[in-house]
Amino acid sequence: MKVLQVSAEIYPLLKTGGLADVAGALPAALNARGGEVRVLLPGFAAVLADLRDVRTLSELVAPWGERAPVRCGWLASLNLTAYVIDAPHLYCRSGGPYENDQRQPYADNHLRFALLGFAAAQLALGLDGQWQPEIVHSHDWHAALAPAYLAFSGQRPAAPVASVYTVHNLAYQGVFAPELFPDLGLPGSAFSIDGLEFHGQVSFMKAGLFYADHVTTVSPTYALEIQTQAQGCGLDGLLRARAGLLTGILNGVDESVWNPQVDPLIPCHFDAERIGGKAQCKAALQKELGLSLQGDAPLFGVVSRLTEQKGLQLVLAALPALFARGAQLVVLGNGEKWLEDAFREAASAHPQQLAVRIGYDEHFAHRIFAATDVTLVPSRFEPCGLTQMYGLKYGSLPLVHSVGGLADTVLEHDREDLADRLANGFVFHEFTVDAFERALCRSLALYARSTDWNQIRERAMRQKLDWDRAAGEYLALYQRLLAKSV
Ligand code: ADP
Repeated sequence: MKVLQVSAEIYPLLKTGGLADVAGALPAALNARGGEVRVLLPGFAAVLADLRDVRTLSELVAPWGERAPVRCGWLASLNLTAYVIDAPHLYCRSGGPYENDQRQPYADNHLRFALLGFAAAQLALGLDGQWQPEIVHSHDWHAALAPAYLAFSGQRPAAPVASVYTVHNLAYQGVFAPELFPDLGLPGSAFSIDGLEFHGQVSFMKAGLFYADHVTTVSPTYALEIQTQAQGCGLDGLLRARAGLLTGILNGVDESVWNPQVDPLIPCHFDAERIGGKAQCKAALQKELGLSLQGDAPLFGVVSRLTEQKGLQLVLAALPALFARGAQLVVLGNGEKWLEDAFREAASAHPQQLAVRIGYDEHFAHRIFAATDVTLVPSRFEPCGLTQMYGLKYGSLPLVHSVGGLADTVLEHDREDLADRLANGFVFHEFTVDAFERALCRSLALYARSTDWNQIRERAMRQKLDWDRAAGEYLALYQRLLAKSV
């Protein structure tokens, strides 16, 4: 099964969030089950620098006149064949992949990412004479025009090809002013309610949802939630209409990156049977951060983008309750200034109990999961969430709001669940400070009962969370789609 995976980010080369983790892990998991996956990426500097044994395909000529060579080579840090759009004027810029140094979106984002979707369609139509995908699997709005360009290509590929579009977060839609629509080179008929028009604007997300042969999202619960008005971000009507072609497939954990037995980024190794190293990781982090050196103080952790979505205002509101009970907290994140400022201020008022690092630091994130007792993920909404799963792997029991993938991966302990061996964390249902604080209190009560705590933590750490299950579900879906398209 030849699969072209199309995404803007890929771990370890370029990452702003969970999308990169998925894009980096899924190809290997599919290949392990007999898939033949190649990836298509924008030519960001880190991607180009990683590419080996390069050959150049015919030049890409976009409908709006853009010309760029597509390179094909071997991505050394991923062991994968990749196609890369070599357009430094579009992708090699100071600032982030989507925003400039002042955190403003680049004015030509519609063209930078339309080119990604266009290149995907061209590869499906035979741009590389040596390899043609049977499945074009694009991720998030940056790659969402691929199914639209395929639908309007006017050409028949040499062999059948089906398109899959995965939504990693419906809230980020790639919406642009209508004046920019003609730049995309799509026919005027595409700019309609049955197309990519969204309240008079151009929506890349809607193009993916509308034109793909099948839509997936990253957890079964989120697949249901986005069909409701409350969580559909204005697209719930379309999603309900396409419900038969919408599947939730839960993400996994890349165990070559997230495994406390061998993780080179943590000070001491440990696993469910040999848990001793975890206490050493905790002591090392407390020392590093200037927290009081108490092995028995429950240590909570947050590794997150600091945005409204992540529910961290609940954490801020609950700080007094947490400190009053002798707990400590470490926060790593960046994002909205008001949240960054609020956490910084709180940390300077409570230096022995709260450590805050504003920024993005992959290595530090590993040390936090290894050291903490509880990982907090109180998101208002959460398509899948990966940090609660990293918490499970590293014996840092997740405390989560019961939404999306958090609801699919974390179960609260109660007597019955203890008996059924299902409990692996703490769950609150109402998005209120009160409900969050009550969950915190339950976690602290369990922490005080060390036998129960150890039992649940051991079970959490043994949980099978790897990518193999998800890869099997994606392959079964691809096969169904191909069977339909021949
Ligand atoms: P989202 O994609 O919405 O940001 P996920 O939980 O799906 O949320 O994925 C977040 C990923 O980004 C995880 O790998 C997490 O460890 C990582 N991450 C988030 N913020 C930071 C940060 N400040 N430093 C390092 N890693 C971070």
